[in-house]
Amino acid sequence: MERKRLRTGLNIFEKCAASAESLTYEALFAKDLGMTETQRSFEKDELLSKIKQCPKNPGHTDFFPVGCIGLLNLPAVCRDKQVLNYLRLFSRLTVKLTCLFTSSMRQGPYKLLGQKIGHASRRLATGFAWLPNHIEQMPCTITNCPYGEHPHSVYGFIRILTNKHVVYDESEAVATQGLFWDEEVRGVTYSAASRCIQVQCVGLDFSQGDNDAAHLRCVTHDSYLCEELKQEMSQLREIYNSIPIGVWQGAENFCAAISHPHGMRKTISIGRHIRMVETISNAHAHYHTCATCPGSSGAPVLYTNTDIKGALPMWVPAIHSYHCPTDGYNCAFK
Ligand SMILES: [Zn+2]
Ligand SMILES: [Zn+2]
Repeated sequence: MERKRLRTGLNIFEKCAASAESLTYEALFAKDLGMTETQRSFEKDELLSKIKQCPKNPGHTDFFPVGCIGLLNLPAVCRDKQVLNYLRLFSRLTVKLTCLFTSSMRQGPYKLLGQKIGHASRRLATGFAWLPNHIEQMPCTITNCPYGEHPHSVYGFIRILTNKHVVYDESEAVATQGLFWDEEVRGVTYSAASRCIQVQCVGLDFSQGDNDAAHLRCVTHDSYLCEELKQEMSQLREIYNSIPIGVWQGAENFCAAISHPHGMRKTISIGRHIRMVETISNAHAHYHTCATCPGSSGAPVLYTNTDIKGALPMWVPAIHSYHCPTDGYNCAFK
């Protein structure tokens, strides 16, 4: 009897070890039949017709422009003005990315279907800034800088977080640009700084396969951008701290994604956090129902989940990575 129990125990242990071994990003991606969500760039007219026929989210009714989202778009349990302000302010840190180069080194789940190697096709995706503590002014060394060859300054570094499948390596990083603040502007909150500002990526600081993460090092020619982002980050902390604990407790499994579907203007989509799965290197895959489309890869996904011990609700977002066509969920990594 004792031997039987022991044998059964070992079998369970062996099963667990085998499944833990297989839980890499690549294995999850294969199991989920994952579809990454970058968008090939089109001419405007062609893009509009693509959007009208969008098979994933016909009519795009679940994407709310940042300036239009209101309390009624939030689930009743967290219909709190500060939660709304938090999402709006987080959208200010969210950025549209354009990558002008595709590396020949891509392999496995990082291969992009239908995209040619080199400069042949550009792809659109999303990222978000996680801020510089220290801002520097430095000489511009960008090759073919649109501001010309005369000596001038850039400011940085702004760190932008996105997916490894969006920016695979250094050769893609230096061919990537970001656009801040292209959201629709309505009302007082967004009228003060209603201008788009471009940043140029100058390097890849960090890249990790097992959670599909890439951290880009970026600079800007705009002398105000870093300071404004820094101020907005500190406002974000204030708003976060002012949200009553009861709201978090009520907002169980709330989820929000901020992205540029098809490279269009920034939108917020609201959904539910479904479950979390841990990978072999302790990265967390978060399955969610927020609407995403091609172009949403790299989007910040803010969530609450009471099963995850010690995690501050919604403070550090997961990063949207792929769509799972079998169950219809989307998957973000942290
Ligand atoms: Zn769509
Ligand atoms: Zn320059």
